[in-house]
Amino acid sequence: MSKRARHFGSDNYAGICPEAWQALEQANRGHCAGYGEDVWTQKASDLIREVFETDCEVFFVFNGTAANSLSLASMCQSYHSILCHETAHVESDECGAPEFFSNGTKVLLVAGPNGKVSPDGIEQMVKRRSDVHYPKPRAVSLTQATELGTVYTPDELKAIWSRCRGLGLRIHMDGARFANAVASLDVKPKEITWQAGVDILSFGGTKNGTHVGDAVVFFNRELAREFEWRCKQAGQLASKMRFMSAPWVGMLQDGVWLRNAAHANAMAQLLHDELSKIPEVKILFPRQANAVFAELPPPIVHALWRRDWKFYTFIGQGGCRLMCAWDTQEQDVRDFVADLTQLLRDTPADAPVPSGNHRVMK
Ligand SMILES: *Cc1c(COP(=O)(O)O)cnc(C)c1O
Repeated sequence: MSKRARHFGSDNYAGICPEAWQALEQANRGHCAGYGEDVWTQKASDLIREVFETDCEVFFVFNGTAANSLSLASMCQSYHSILCHETAHVESDECGAPEFFSNGTKVLLVAGPNGKVSPDGIEQMVKRRSDVHYPKPRAVSLTQATELGTVYTPDELKAIWSRCRGLGLRIHMDGARFANAVASLDVKPKEITWQAGVDILSFGGTKNGTHVGDAVVFFNRELAREFEWRCKQAGQLASKMRFMSAPWVGMLQDGVWLRNAAHANAMAQLLHDELSKIPEVKILFPRQANAVFAELPPPIVHALWRRDWKFYTFIGQGGCRLMCAWDTQEQDVRDFVADLTQLLRDTPADAPVPSGNHRVMK
């Protein structure tokens, strides 16, 4: 057990928020139909339709990997390809699940600053080849907020959409941190989804305060045809579905989901502002959601780990990723910055760095 209550390791280090927990407790009273034929799943789906102000189709699956893979599989044939940013979760953190569940649809990587793909980057990848030997581009997957803690603005999304339309590409959005993006941009959820051409959204709940279960939201309802069979075959149809959907009811009622996200974003902003005052720290990307990426001297990184601060150094393009959650406290930020400041003062610049696999977090 760690001596610290909270870390900057990931937003999924956090527990279940009180509102989600309370909904779970209520869902646990008495019997209820299985496989999503229950009032909680109905209510959660209706709330999602309310949030997006449209008649979308909603399915709950166990995690983001399943949501992404099954969404992409429903857009593509096996001979198609999916374009995404080179740091995308679907490329580097899903163990090939998008390819597996689509029976081999190839993922093609697009570069771009700050974790984002651009219309030109997409077009170049599509136009590279058009012959039968090249996997035919069919979909673009955009991560909102991105793996590097940045966000796509509505205008950026619309520019991508306009290019995608001309190229015959469908749009998937990996919204593991969709709430953080909405809170950061201060937009209506529809403005960065269906009004910007998004066909399917993987709507993440886990990192924002639920325990398990992400929603697959189809704005393009035609693509949802037979999706329930795809979920069942993939082992993603929960028998006691209400325990995945009820927390969503707790989160979506009264705007809890956006308050949680805005809080996490605000803690990241505070951390960003404090770190910016320290000359030895280099901030790597604009802080737009709930993460701060910073470069610290390697001996300091190890010294912080030895003080039991947990954070990763291998996400995206390197640097320390400091992730805030719905329950991060201002004091956590201040304690971290105080430790960092003290270590910078007391550690010689040439202090030895332990060898070994730095990708494994201590
Ligand atoms: C966490 C995350 C996911 C989902 O991961 P699971 O562990 O499968 O729930 C998807 N995309 C991004 C960008 C993420 O950070």
